Amino acid sequence: MGEAPAFVVENVIGEFPSGVDLKPKGNQTAIDVGSKTYVIGGGADHELKSTIGVQIYDKASGKWINPTVLGTKLKAPEGFSAMLLNDDRILVVKRNSPVGDCFWFLEVNTPFVRQQAKSFGTEVVAWSKGVIGDAEKPIVISGPSGVGKGTLISKLMDEFPSTFGFSVSHTTRAPREKEQNGVHYHFTERSKMEKDIKDGKFLEFANVHGNLYGTSVEAVEVVADSGKRCILDIDVQGARSVRASSLEAIFIFITPPSFEKLEKRLRARGTETEEQVQKRLRNAKEELKQGQSPGLFDHILVNDDLETCYKDLKAILGLSEGVKTVHKTGPKLADLPTDCSVTIIDKKILINSNSAEHGKTSNKTFLLDLSLLKGGAPGRTRGLNLRAIDSSTDTKQLS
Ligand code: ADP
Ligand code: 5GP
Repeated sequence: MGEAPAFVVENVIGEFPSGVDLKPKGNQTAIDVGSKTYVIGGGADHELKSTIGVQIYDKASGKWINPTVLGTKLKAPEGFSAMLLNDDRILVVKRNSPVGDCFWFLEVNTPFVRQQAKSFGTEVVAWSKGVIGDAEKPIVISGPSGVGKGTLISKLMDEFPSTFGFSVSHTTRAPREKEQNGVHYHFTERSKMEKDIKDGKFLEFANVHGNLYGTSVEAVEVVADSGKRCILDIDVQGARSVRASSLEAIFIFITPPSFEKLEKRLRARGTETEEQVQKRLRNAKEELKQGQSPGLFDHILVNDDLETCYKDLKAILGLSEGVKTVHKTGPKLADLPTDCSVTIIDKKILINSNSAEHGKTSNKTFLLDLSLLKGGAPGRTRGLNLRAIDSSTDTKQLS
């Protein structure tokens, strides 16, 4: 282990700021980040049992702040350990939870939460779930209306049903004849969607062709939790927002061979009124310009011949001919028992557990390697490498 400092975080009830009226209630942890103390756990009394609350004590002003909490709010576990990582996020290890739901990150000072704080005008924190292993990056597909995004995505999902999952967006526009609620979109009222946006439930949103469209954090999480690679069909403004978020994705822009062909396709689809077609074509000009913005899209594909474009899309996604499924599963480890201690050494974390079952005591040690963390809130922090190790292993191996 050399000179590396080791901080042992036991069943923590943190150091609460002195002279303030909030007392630790049950499972609460206080963590200092710069001039602020983040109190995790508890929260409003009615929430105490259901979710893990977050409150901030600003030492400079002596005031408590209720931040905007983005991402899925954590269901209150039986217990948890927490520690600060990289001065910008707090790792929360839930007790007695399946490994897939055990590691969570509360981002407190990442570029993403700083940016969100500016747009919300409040303090912002964001939860993201730690994903074991290196799940594939989500795919963002943008392009003007009628260019063929939906057609290409359907082909991909039909050919690789167990690999890809579609992020079902919310929209305030009316459903088309064959569109199903919850499958193509979540069709919603503007007032409800605006409230949900305020409550931090959306990863991104934009006004497109006169309607509100947005990707909820949950839409992306549902796909991630099914073990599939997420595909987002969103406009250029949405792509820009996702690019600015911590969600690491591949950005693909689909462009038509000509404006005339785009117009022909849009009309041939027959789903919009003449007025709506005109609006979409007007907006397409700006979208085509925006699609060329330096650094926004990783790939630009011309959808002239559909089969050629589809082949190019598959090549970008590393899907060679004949490969029908690309399905990765993480390691399966036993649930972490309730009684565990967590030690952080550099970017590696040792989780020691002692459990007594059927009169026998067992000692298990897990090693969580955080050195390859990718992505982040809201959504998923990928690249966690967890493995069970022999509890007699000397910690010298770890540094
Ligand atoms: P988007 O989802 O980008 O709005 P769609 O996938 O709905 O576009 O495609 C618009 C119309 O164009 C559909 O009727 C579709 O069948 C057709 N289309 C898609 N790609 C091509 C192509 N390469 N050549 C000709 N027609 C196409
Ligand atoms: P349509 O009404 O044709 O289904 O979609 C119109 C436009 O809205 C398309 O460019 C599509 O990519 C975009 N869109 C669909 N869902 C979302 C979303 O969740 N967010 C954003 N920003 N755009 C979306």
